[in-house]
Amino acid sequence: MYLRKSMEEHEPEHVRLVKSTELFRNCKNIVVGKGNLKAKILFCGEAPGANEDEQGLPFVGAAGKNLDALLAKVGLSLQDIYVTNILKCRPPENRNPLPEEIKLHTPWLVAQIKEMKPEVVCSLGNYATKFFLAKGNVDDMENQEGITKLHGKVKLMEFDGLKIKLIPLFHPAAIIYNRNLLPLWEQDIGIVKQELVQKRLF
Ligand code: URA
Repeated sequence: MYLRKSMEEHEPEHVRLVKSTELFRNCKNIVVGKGNLKAKILFCGEAPGANEDEQGLPFVGAAGKNLDALLAKVGLSLQDIYVTNILKCRPPENRNPLPEEIKLHTPWLVAQIKEMKPEVVCSLGNYATKFFLAKGNVDDMENQEGITKLHGKVKLMEFDGLKIKLIPLFHPAAIIYNRNLLPLWEQDIGIVKQELVQKRLF
């Protein structure tokens, strides 16, 4: 949760950029993240929905329940991970993020990554996956492969000078609409667990 009323003169650039967007003017809360910023595993989704906007926390609605259940399957809790999104404010009617919005909201994500220095990043769905694969170059996101091809495939890469293992996962909301994805989603979290065990992060 980030308080809307803050001392603006002390605001970092990434906060100022988010606040410059129309999305900010129309949302109830900026949804920053939840979990442990000292953890080495980052989960990144797309954007807050209605419940997240209401509570100021990511993944607290139906998709969040799916994510919690998946994490519990491999014994992960919010102590072990940090969870955030590409956009920090809810888009109207949960529409897809626009490139300009991604450009103005992701400096906050990059600041979180700089602080946290994750070793493993699980990107949830197409937007987060393409953002990381494009190494934060939003204009290059459209040239990246989608989640259907890439889910569960571990990619060692550099992001903003940091070596990370990117593991794309289906978005937990996709599982609600397409139950056929459930076995793949469960298989993929097994791959995440293997990586964590290998890196002694688990
Ligand atoms: N979907 C997301 O991508 N993020 C949330 O926080 C909630 C739903």
